[in-house]
Amino acid sequence: MEPKLEINTRCINCDLCRVACPEDSILITDQQYVIETWSCTICGLCIELCPSEAIQIVSDSLIKD
Ligand code: SF4
Ligand code: SF4
Repeated sequence: MEPKLEINTRCINCDLCRVACPEDSILITDQQYVIETWSCTICGLCIELCPSEAIQIVSDSLIKD
């Protein structure tokens, strides 16, 4: 049950998180921001920076395949 980060629909595409991420884990796919889970260290920086509280920690048990 490893936690990971997810960007929800509250994202306003401000780009702050992508620029700030020390691991370059935040990508834009189909004009949506997504977090590359294998490289993300869950440092929490993007969660703090996001102006619209769009980034949340979720656990695997809550994610559908
Ligand atoms: S938690 Fe840290 S490593 Fe993961 S996406 Fe956010 S800023 Fe990048
Ligand atoms: S900081 Fe928040 S609102 Fe801005 S692009 Fe990232 S997830 Fe979206």
